[in-house]
Amino acid sequence: MPTDPVCAMDIQDTSRAEQVQHDGTTFYFCSPGCRNAFAAAPRKYVDPGYAAEHRPRLVLSHHVGAKVHGAGAAGRFNTRLAVRITRTVGSMWTAYAFGALALISLPAALRSGDVIVIIAWVAQTFLQLVLLPIIIVGQNVIQATNDARAQADHETLSAVHRLTAEVHRINEGQTAILERLRGAGEGR
Ligand SMILES: [Zn+2]
Repeated sequence: MPTDPVCAMDIQDTSRAEQVQHDGTTFYFCSPGCRNAFAAAPRKYVDPGYAAEHRPRLVLSHHVGAKVHGAGAAGRFNTRLAVRITRTVGSMWTAYAFGALALISLPAALRSGDVIVIIAWVAQTFLQLVLLPIIIVGQNVIQATNDARAQADHETLSAVHRLTAEVHRINEGQTAILERLRGAGEGR
């Protein structure tokens, strides 16, 4: 049974499967998505040499900024403004300031004696005002953790990749030597 070279799924019914001819071989795919991925770069999936050439890429959150607003001048401005506002609002000092701001209206809310007014103060004034910056701070911490992890994983992957490429190169050299020896043995 053939296997989808992109996602490694077994292809039960080849007559209905998406297919691509490459170097005289027919490859079958589970879906148009896998077929398109293969058609865009077949070597990636069939050529072990491609893996040796592949360079592990480091993707951090600031690399993705251009994807959200575009790489143009307006896009860069929007990204910079959004990041600056997020940094300003997303600090514990803003959380304390908003907390103090919310507390100004607490006595009035309590004095009203109205349950709805008090609940509205807790839910709308206090929680929304104070939780917003705290959640942003938490997300910044999580994002920094993710970036640090991406960086560490990237270094590990690059090291593994360098070693594997080196082993691959040595193996190819040995294969060439063995073929020469075999040729010499047959020529005798
Ligand atoms: Zn697939």
